[in-house]
Formats: sequence, structure tokens, C-alpha cells
Amino acid sequence: MTFIECSDLSFSYENKTVLSKVNFSVEKADYICILGENGSGKSTLVKGLLNLKRPSNGKIVFSKGIKSNEIGYLSQQKSMLKDFPASVFEVVLSGRLSSMGIRPFYTKKDKAIANKNIEKLGISHLKKKSFVELSGGQQQRVLLARGLCGTEKLLILDEPVTGLDPLVTLELYDLIKMINETEKMTIIMVTHDAREAIKHASHILHLANKQLFFGTTEEYKKTRMAEEFLGGGKVD
Ligand code: ADP
Repeated sequence: MTFIECSDLSFSYENKTVLSKVNFSVEKADYICILGENGSGKSTLVKGLLNLKRPSNGKIVFSKGIKSNEIGYLSQQKSMLKDFPASVFEVVLSGRLSSMGIRPFYTKKDKAIANKNIEKLGISHLKKKSFVELSGGQQQRVLLARGLCGTEKLLILDEPVTGLDPLVTLELYDLIKMINETEKMTIIMVTHDAREAIKHASHILHLANKQLFFGTTEEYKKTRMAEEFLGGGKVD
């Protein structure tokens, strides 16, 4: 089932075009990695998908199977929570806000969903802890659980492992893959880590100056773009 169809998408800031004629589609249970150098427009595209930035050209069409408020999101930015005295449970529960509409309180169902995701990500023992006291890896697990509270369909992750050590990074990638496989959760992930991307993703969207690749990971591995981005040598 197609969730999102993007055709001829362009984005610009003032008069500067950042992305031009980007075409790709998102199918249920896809795991799409968005690759590209700094400044290639990855975050801009994510903003477009989240309806936070309007394309200067082209369109983003959501199918009947998904609404734009059924997207979970995990950003790279943790700064908004830096000085915020919230418990792990409260942070995870706040992931329900996007699904609540105008209802000004959390229901039992919201709390049950938060608890389910806390269990799923193995952070039950941290539930009452203050978010700011956790390690970087624990905080990202909490934010992943928070993202999952907003969706059962599509999760967008923008550089989710930035600043984490290699072991914690691998654990987080494994968790994301597990969620993709066991729940058929559609994943769109922005990452710098091309090697990790080709290990787990079903599709690659590679943004580069006037060049663009979208296709399966197997197809991507055969391209010159992949060879260059992965630092030459054979891609396996
Ligand atoms: P990436 O996520 O791949 O690093 P971005 O989407 O953040 O790329 O940025 C793409 C380009 O758009 C960059 O040249 C950046 O300077 C520019 N840009 C991003 N946000 C803004 C903004 N709010 N105003 C003006 N230019 C911006």
C-alpha cells in the first residue's frame, strides 16, 4: 500500500533552491534511508513530509491509508527537553499530543499506549526517572518510545544516533530494525551513516547536488553515487 507519493518536489529558502524535482514514494513497511552530505536538503525534505515546510513546486500526496498527523517523529534536537523537569513516563506520554486533537487531557488509552512502548523499548526500569538524568543512549530510547506513541504507521527519524557511542548506536539501529520488521512500521531515517543504511534499509534516497537516487538498496549499491559516498572500494 502506498502511503506517500512525492512528485517533482522542490524546496527553496528565499530565492535559493535547495531541492529540485525530487520523486519518490513511501510504501507500507518500507525502511527508507535518506542520505546526503551536509546541506544537501535532508532536513528540509523531512520538514516537508511533516507539513512544516511547503514545497516551492511539486506535491506530497498522502494516501487514504495514512493521515499527516499519524506520523511519529524523532528529531536530532534534544535541547527542548534539556531543562525540562519531566519523568521518562511524561516524556513518552507527550508523544500522544499529536493524536489528541483538541482534547486537553490524557486518557487511559494514551497512558496504556505510553506504557506499551516503554516496555517494547526495554526502559520500564527508567519510567519514574527524570529524563535529564539519563545517558544519551537512554534518552534516545525514551524519545524513540515517544515517537512511537504518535503512530502505528510511519516513523521519521532525523539523525537519531548523533553523539552516541558506537555500541549504543548499534543497539538503537537494531531496535529501529526490530520495530520495522515486527510491527511493519514504515521507517524514514535521515542518516550520515551510509554503511548502516545499506545494511538495514529497503530503499535509499540519496540527495546530492543536481543528482538524485531513489530505489532499492540493492540497486543503490550498484551505483557510482554509492561507491563514491561509501569512500570507494567495493560495496558489499
Ligand atoms: P541537511 O539536512 O542535508 O544538512 P538542510 O535541509 O538542513 O540540509 O539544508 C539545506 C540547505 O538549505 C542548506 O544550504 C541550508 O543552509 C539551507 N537552509 C536550511 N534551513 C534554512 C533556513 N531556515 N533559511 C535559509 N536557508 C536554510
